[in-house]
This record gives sequence, C-alpha cells and structure tokens, in this order.
Amino acid sequence: MTALIEVENLTVQFRTDEGLVTAVDDVSFTLDKGQVMGLVGESGSGKSVTAKALMRLNARNAVYGEKSRITLHSETGPIDVLKLTSARDLKIVRGGAISMIFQEPMASFAPAITIGKQMVEQLQIHSDMSKARAKEISVEMLDRVGISDPARRFDQYAFELSGGMRQRAMIAMALSTKPKLLIADEPTTALDVTIQAQVIDLMKDLVSEFHMGIVFITHDLGVIAQTADKVSVMYLGRLIEEGPVREVIRNPKHPYTQGLIAALPKLDDLDAPLTPVAGDIPSPLERPSGCVFHTRCPQILGDICKTDLPRDRRVDPVHRVACHLHDEKTPA
Ligand code: SF4
Repeated sequence: MTALIEVENLTVQFRTDEGLVTAVDDVSFTLDKGQVMGLVGESGSGKSVTAKALMRLNARNAVYGEKSRITLHSETGPIDVLKLTSARDLKIVRGGAISMIFQEPMASFAPAITIGKQMVEQLQIHSDMSKARAKEISVEMLDRVGISDPARRFDQYAFELSGGMRQRAMIAMALSTKPKLLIADEPTTALDVTIQAQVIDLMKDLVSEFHMGIVFITHDLGVIAQTADKVSVMYLGRLIEEGPVREVIRNPKHPYTQGLIAALPKLDDLDAPLTPVAGDIPSPLERPSGCVFHTRCPQILGDICKTDLPRDRRVDPVHRVACHLHDEKTPA
C-alpha cells in the first residue's frame, strides 16, 4: 500500500474568549491510496476538526501545534498542507486533490444557482477546460452516481431534487475533479435506511473505480462496519484506538470502543437492552487530566488513569490502543 496522507502529531486549538481550547490533541494516522478509514466518535470528539484540518478548512481562530504535520502525497510530490499559505496553493488541496461532502447537501449547493452551473464552475476553478467539456463531464458524473435523466437534472436547482438525489449530486460534484482523497462528513445520517445503503454502495464502487482514499466521519459504528477498511476511534480530541475494522469491532481493546459496540442494536436479539456509554463527554474547557476517558470509564484502574496520559500501545502490528489496561506492566 502507498501512503496517500500522513498526519503526525496533529494538535488543533481554538482561540476563544475563555482562552485556548483544545479540540484535537496529538493525533497521528496514515491513510493509504484506495483505503477507506472510518473516523468515529461522539460529537465533540474532534473528528470533524481533524478532517477539516486535512483541507485547512477550520475557522480562522484555529491554531495548529508546532509539531503538527500533514503530508499529502500528490502526483507532483509531497505537499506539506499546514505550510500552505497562498490562496492559489490552498486551491490545490481544497476541492482539487481533496474534496469534502457533508451531511446536508443543501449546505454545499447555492440554492439560487442550478446544480449544473455549480458543477461547471467547480471544474473550471481547478482546470482550464472549456465550459462545454466541463458540462459534458458534469452530466457524465451525474449519470455515474445513478441520477436518472442527468441532462435534465443538470439544469435543476438543489431544492428540486429528493434528499437521496441531492446527496448523489453532491458526491458527483465532489468527484468531478477526480480528488485523491474524499472526506465524507456524516454523509448518510440524514438519509433513510434504503437510500443510506445505496449511497454507501455507491461510495464503495467509486473508491475502487477512482482508486482514491476516503475518510468517512460518523458516530455510527454500524455504518463503518459496512464501509471502512480501518477505523480510528476518537474521544475528546484523542485518537484512542485504531485498527482494521473487523478486528476492532470483534476485538475492541479500549473501554470506550467496547462501550460504543455494546450500544449497537443486535439484530439477532431484539430484546437485548441497549447499553449506551454512561455519562456525557466533558466540555473541552474542562479536559480531564490523565486519560481523557477516566470520568466515564467503567474499568478505571485508579490514580494512574487520573494522572498519566496513556500512550499508544500496539496490541498487534496493525491494532493500537491508548489505555493503561494495555501497558506492559499493568495486568490486562
Ligand atoms: Fe479506562 Fe484507565 Fe484505560 Fe482510561 S486508561 S480507558 S480510565 S482503564
């Protein structure tokens, strides 16, 4: 596998009236070409801030840590994303090498401009192709994502399409520039289950066809199980467990991941009670010391969890976890 994007020691803080608030704390991961990574966690876990950092889309009050590094491996060589400054250079990653799709497609489309015009503009921003060619590609992409009568839809407005169709149109627009990396932020949450399954299948097909990487952000481990090759679980800005999706779901090591899995409905036992992770994620203004999960952890070991930040441990070559239960000297 070849690395597509490498994130090293990513820390993101926001300047606020209350001081610097940490949203992402020392997160590292690698995504390979053609790989789908699920980024899972509750709201406030830092997953969207992490994903937006890949495109430098965080708000202007964001401050990146000194050791933070994001390297995108493009055809022309590695790009140090956090060092990009000019609008011209940022355009190479934003909507060019990296595209993003959102939970609510209405947020991506301007309501008073036809879908086709927006697709053509997007293509022309990132290339010097003619309007006629851009239209041709846009209609092709609408067709490719399964939109019927694409030439007619091209001239319609976002509000004229159904929810599932809008989502497909947004995916078509995001993919028309042939990005190397697609960031999908809760792309199926607002859809009903049947359409959700169709959109997931479509994204899987597109990964193999375009050989791109996808970062799939969701709070839903069930969706990740269907979509991703590997999963990274975040909690309060920390990446607490990562590994191949089947391995993590069958054999979760971190008490928080275990809690997320226990909270999933079981189709083979519909009478089984759902057991959500107890308590609420603390405010980022009141980050717990030591392990950030210690205020909710049902397996807390004692003072070490309250004082010492657990380091990443490899439980096998591809599965890592940050929890004192897996320290070499602490019996599991
Ligand atoms: Fe629980 Fe301690 Fe592990 Fe944190 S380090 S998850 S508090 S056992």
